[in-house]
Amino acid sequence: MAFVSIIIPCRNEAETIPLLYDGLKWLERELPLMRFEYIWIDDGSQDDTYQILSGLQEADSRVKTIRFSRNFGKEAAIFSGLHQAKGDCCVVMDADLQHPVETIPEMIALWQEGYEVVEGRKESRGEEPGIRKAFANIFYRLLGRTIGMDMKNASDFKLLDRKAVQALCDLPERNTFFRALSFWVGYRSASVTYEVSERAAGTTKWSNRSLLKYGLKNLTAFSNKPLYLIFAFGALLILAGILLSIDAVVSHFRGRSAGGYPTLIIFLVFVAGGMMLSLGIIGAYIAMIYDEVKGRPRYIISEKKEKKEEKEECRNTERD
Ligand code: UDP
Ligand code: MG
Repeated sequence: MAFVSIIIPCRNEAETIPLLYDGLKWLERELPLMRFEYIWIDDGSQDDTYQILSGLQEADSRVKTIRFSRNFGKEAAIFSGLHQAKGDCCVVMDADLQHPVETIPEMIALWQEGYEVVEGRKESRGEEPGIRKAFANIFYRLLGRTIGMDMKNASDFKLLDRKAVQALCDLPERNTFFRALSFWVGYRSASVTYEVSERAAGTTKWSNRSLLKYGLKNLTAFSNKPLYLIFAFGALLILAGILLSIDAVVSHFRGRSAGGYPTLIIFLVFVAGGMMLSLGIIGAYIAMIYDEVKGRPRYIISEKKEKKEEKEECRNTERD
């Protein structure tokens, strides 16, 4: 009997958890030959999320709950779920019903055919404001190019075989980008498309500012191409400098030098701006290195609940 772990990061999802739990009950009826465990991670919620999860955990032995000591972010929540999961495969999904439970049987069927990574791809980006859509497009095009994968419409809704989960858990880095790393680890992959519906309840936890930060952090965490861009920028400046110098000397001897002040101002502003930008890019990488070198834990668990017998069982396997 195949064992499937469902991993659900939650932050202030008190309203949506019961709805998703009902959906998971439907999934159990749909796939009676599978064994399930549900790992709910409370990522520093301020509402009743943990109380609701505790209630589910007491009533249902398949439910495991993890509570973070504060908000550590969705990436950390996903990885803590992957670390705890015991399943032959793991499905990572959002709590707000934007990742439809109805797609999971299709993902599991592909896994049973031998695919080790099944990506959920958004059919449309749902009801997102125009500016956010535009930003997401630019970011995914940039990132897609750097890692050689079509990132547009990619999502965190994924099924991963135990092998891929292990590969992800073995990565030493702290700044992870789950969506792209699950592609980076390789393995046989397939994709399924799903329609993004509106949030079932509550509001998104992402502001435009936090999205921008998330985008920049993931770009620096995943790729070193921006550093090479500085290289290209420097080369371009030197080339422009040579051409301008030739022009200045020739003009001088012909007695019609360019006006000094405007040329100087334009050049200074352009060069100073470019330098600051380059410094910023280098700074972003240094910040990332600083973060990695400190080696702090990615998350701190304040409470963890699961059925006793299973705890014993997993201790035994760990000892083996
Ligand atoms: N989430 C989380 N920690 C956070 C932010 C979000 O665990 O700091 C969870 C959230 O509860 C939801 C999922 O990540 O289950 C996706 O979040 P959200 O719906 O806010 O993002 P969006 O769908 O707008 O990208
Ligand atoms: Mg959502």
